Amino acid sequence: MPPFEYAPAPESRAVVDIASSYGLFIGGEFVAATGGTPFKTVNPATEEVLAEVSEASADDVDAAVRAARTAYTRVWSRMSGADRGKYLYRIARIIQERARELAVLETLDNGKPIKESRDVDVPLAAAHFFYHAGWADKLGYASLGADPRPLGVVGQVIPWNFPLLMLAWKVAPALACGNTVVLKPAETTPLTALLFAEICRQAELPPGVVNIVTGAGATGQAIVDHPGIDKLAFTGSTAVGKMIARSIAGTRKKATLELGGKGANIVFDDAPLDQAVEGIVTGIFFNQGHVCCAGSRLLVQENVADEVVRRLKRRLGTLRVGDPMDKNTDVGAINSKAQLDRIAALTEAGEAEGAQRWDSGCELPTAGYWFRPTVFTDVAQSHRIAQEEIFGPVVSVLTFRTPGEAVAKANNTPYGLSAGVWTEKGSRILWMADQLRAGVVWANTFNKFDPTSPFGGYKESGYGREGGRHGLEAYVKTGSEQ
Ligand code: NAD
Ligand code: MG
Repeated sequence: MPPFEYAPAPESRAVVDIASSYGLFIGGEFVAATGGTPFKTVNPATEEVLAEVSEASADDVDAAVRAARTAYTRVWSRMSGADRGKYLYRIARIIQERARELAVLETLDNGKPIKESRDVDVPLAAAHFFYHAGWADKLGYASLGADPRPLGVVGQVIPWNFPLLMLAWKVAPALACGNTVVLKPAETTPLTALLFAEICRQAELPPGVVNIVTGAGATGQAIVDHPGIDKLAFTGSTAVGKMIARSIAGTRKKATLELGGKGANIVFDDAPLDQAVEGIVTGIFFNQGHVCCAGSRLLVQENVADEVVRRLKRRLGTLRVGDPMDKNTDVGAINSKAQLDRIAALTEAGEAEGAQRWDSGCELPTAGYWFRPTVFTDVAQSHRIAQEEIFGPVVSVLTFRTPGEAVAKANNTPYGLSAGVWTEKGSRILWMADQLRAGVVWANTFNKFDPTSPFGGYKESGYGREGGRHGLEAYVKTGSEQ
């Protein structure tokens, strides 16, 4: 138990205005869907229905792609980069002005703690628009090749773990480079994307530059299959990413895929252990572990493993799990019943395969979807909990003796999105970073994001980069490319 109790510190939800139902955002207007079956989005912390959302049919997707094409040919691709930049700056500033509203709405719809949506998701979303606004008139100097030109209409499909932030990662570079967009948010977290549609109107973005269609997998598939799409940007599961790659094989469509991960967080015996424990917590318990680059495999040098696990468990006992709207909450709700079931099934498999399970034993609310911070020790590399993405607040602990063994174990995964290295030794950090087959390697920190830094995967974690100068490459063609 913590030495003192925290008084409740609830954020107010009065700052958001949620409509009872939403249409689709096509050509700058909210329009009714044609034919699909509306669905409900809930607050996963309470199971309260927040709103009814439209399901876009293939016809609706077609209308959105046409609107995006018209805006592309008539307005956006003809506009100077400096003018496009002005719109992006305007959007960035409105995100800042409406930050509290966006943070509250994100937490209600997603279940993540308000302190994370307030301090991470929303500021980073604004930062992505500011950063890309700056590039809009400088693309010719970005070493992208001679005469970088936009691709056309971009289809974007995003997941539920960072709804507004993933939208920003996708929309900001696309628009900066002169493309127009049809974006589909995830079915459990559509509300901040719909508020973003309103922000586009407030910014007087020309109609059709951004179109937002809601729905589930079938709507996403309609975007993927639409012949009017020039490029696809997808973030989500490796299974769906593979289906998308198959669907577009043999077409002229370009694609970037940001898929799953099973990141290794590697702690050497010379690391400052208390700092490393904080990094382990940030690595896997941030956002309930719903993070593709989470440090879900903890690799600890054998001679300090018992000590690290002891300190980690003690620290997990102090995490406050519960009401995401409380400003003191560290770990919020699991995003959906389906995700909770997946986490439960994989952790049961961990026990069945012989790993030792421990959880923090904290009290959980009675309504909503919850999972206690959980640690598995005695994990073998072959266990499902060491191989498969759990996407929840669960860490699997493995040990190693030498740096070479740490690298071999860290790379023993079909994924390759992220890794972390904790050591006092600079030369070892550089050597490890060179050996690890991961798109991002953090040194003595974890889960740090910045719009200037490219992010992306190796192997089954996908291809292409988002963020930084490298991220622009996915949204332009150069030279003689048609
Ligand atoms: P998902 O891949 O099913 O969904 C991601 C997005 O793709 C959603 O918007 C969804 O509606 C859409 N989609 C689903 N089927 C599609 C199809 N056939 N064509 C086009 N779009 C389609 O992921 P999920 O069901 O939300 O989560 C399942 C697993 O995915 C998680 O357990 C986790 O392992 C992984 N995941 C990874 C990330 C990431 O950031 N890399 C994010 C969310 C989930
Ligand atoms: Mg929801």
